[in-house]
Amino acid sequence: MSGSTESQGGFLSRRGFFRWASSLAAALGAAPLASSAKTLSLSTASSDGEDYYAKLGVPTIINAAGTYTTLTAACMPPEVLAAVQKAALHPVRLHDLQQKAGEYIARRLKCEGAVVTSGASGAISLATAACLQYANNSNILDMPQAVEGMKNQVIVQRAHRYEYDRAMYLCGARVTEVVTLDDYRRACGAGNAVMTNFFNAAEDEDGIAASAQIGREEWLRVAHEYKIPCHLDAAADMPPISNLWKYTGMGFDLVAFSGGKGMRGPQNAGLLLGRKILTDLAHANNNPGDGIGRGMKVAKEQIVGMVAAVDWVLSHTEESMQGDYQKRVDLIANEVKGIRSVRTETVVPKIANHVPHLLIRFDPAVAGVTTGQIVDALRNGTPSIELNPNTGQKPNQGIPADANTLVVGVWMLQPGEDAIVGQRIRAALTKRA
Ligand SMILES: *Cc1c(COP(=O)(O)O)cnc(C)c1O
Repeated sequence: MSGSTESQGGFLSRRGFFRWASSLAAALGAAPLASSAKTLSLSTASSDGEDYYAKLGVPTIINAAGTYTTLTAACMPPEVLAAVQKAALHPVRLHDLQQKAGEYIARRLKCEGAVVTSGASGAISLATAACLQYANNSNILDMPQAVEGMKNQVIVQRAHRYEYDRAMYLCGARVTEVVTLDDYRRACGAGNAVMTNFFNAAEDEDGIAASAQIGREEWLRVAHEYKIPCHLDAAADMPPISNLWKYTGMGFDLVAFSGGKGMRGPQNAGLLLGRKILTDLAHANNNPGDGIGRGMKVAKEQIVGMVAAVDWVLSHTEESMQGDYQKRVDLIANEVKGIRSVRTETVVPKIANHVPHLLIRFDPAVAGVTTGQIVDALRNGTPSIELNPNTGQKPNQGIPADANTLVVGVWMLQPGEDAIVGQRIRAALTKRA
């Protein structure tokens, strides 16, 4: 541990030492090292740590929205949190941890290679860096500068263009946009493509492109005829749990998942899964080397947290996971039952956020309150509740809402919060809040 933050005058203060020693003891499940630690400590913090949200004046919220990044996405389950806490107590050799964590995750998720990244966006950057090196058969670490004049195109369908294209630009890659199968073949044949990117949620599960013309199978087949590696962005696409091996099993060379969404690992973690030759190159560009991944640092706590999150996910079945979310939906639906004009239904988006969401439809003329007023009442109450942002919106992302529909995302609720959300929505709909 560094003396500089905890010490005064260059040595570790007694207070700092005892706090460290007793937290170590607590983490190891032992009795406090010395009872004098308590009397010596001037801290008013409880042994499980100071509440810095309260200290900083940042209100906590009930997340009835979903895995939104701005709402800090998921909270880690107790098993994952405990693993993170234990990992925080000991330094290790970072390369060893990255290597072993990758091998363990690859084994559990049935692929050749895996990298714990800083998130799905970080995974897309490392995938691009790996594919740039692979295609150019060179060890370029000076991205994006050294990529100029080399093969640098990533082929993407127009309907799959999105904000995460920037995670590829960052490496010096550029996007070749295609619409038709002919466009795609021409782009593949041009000889300057290093990778293709497929935005998984842009296509529905039946393999019928929503607005794109080329489905997953055909996309893969054509790229592989030209020996171009295919990356798939499945960031928000677990559950179903089997998606964690489905797409690598189909033949996608690299697949990215967010760690802090449905997987409930640390928010600043993610996975890049796929062919070992490419995940090895991703490792080579990752921190703490000085490649493009240097600023996407993943600390030992997040690496262990991601591994523990994989174990946590795999300790569930599809049915146990979805059944638990459905129970929350049912509890909240039951709470608003009988309110005049209110109808409820459950929807499960096909890809991305594939979990039960509760729709509460009502008639503002009968209820005497509008969607906007309910959203405000929930947000401004205590504790503050955030509903799913599809509330009051047109159908979007598999959620058929409208102006007079509340959308409740239940999967990020903490134990007991479903009842609070139900009561507060009932109060808002009956104008008691
Ligand atoms: C959330 C998301 C990302 C980014 O994931 P992070 O883990 O936050 O970096 C990338 N792509 C898609 C489709 C996403 O939904």
